[in-house]
Amino acid sequence: MKKIMVDMDDVICEGGFLALVNEFLGTNYQKEEIKTYYIQDLIPKERYAEWGEFFNSKNVYDHCKMLKDVYEVLEKLSKQYEIYITTAYIFRDNEEYSAKNLKNKFEYLYENLPFISPENFIFTTNKEIIDCEIKIDDKLSNLKGKAETKLLFTAYHNKEITEEELKQQHVIRVNSWKEIEQIL
Ligand SMILES: [Mg+2]
Repeated sequence: MKKIMVDMDDVICEGGFLALVNEFLGTNYQKEEIKTYYIQDLIPKERYAEWGEFFNSKNVYDHCKMLKDVYEVLEKLSKQYEIYITTAYIFRDNEEYSAKNLKNKFEYLYENLPFISPENFIFTTNKEIIDCEIKIDDKLSNLKGKAETKLLFTAYHNKEITEEELKQQHVIRVNSWKEIEQIL
């Protein structure tokens, strides 16, 4: 069976991080306005410590919604492929709060994708070391390393990457889980 590496944030579920940033700042940013991968860059540096505590007091996945068709397509694919959900959990500016982030991620996956064994959850920042034939991620640099098929899932921060750039890196852009289903 071929193996698929599937990212979690902005590929399986989305929206939680921006909701918390908006709550913290008292703003109403929409994802269309965000160009940076790290949404927390909207927060002034001098408030990072306060933001870390705030984030740690919340569960970002309580504010996430699952992307359309994820459940159905992943369940189907799980019969023909080994699926590995591969997600980073180290909190960039507040590493000390990462353990809770990992716990929240585990629980979300465990509850929402019951057909994937928790043994197939991989928590790591360096996805280049993951040896899977197929990789799906919304962050281009996470598609580095060897893989036969590399799919960039369209997200708020990667829309400006050109087709040419993707071609050079042997990456195909996908806009939905239905497209993924067709390709695989
Ligand atoms: Mg992601």
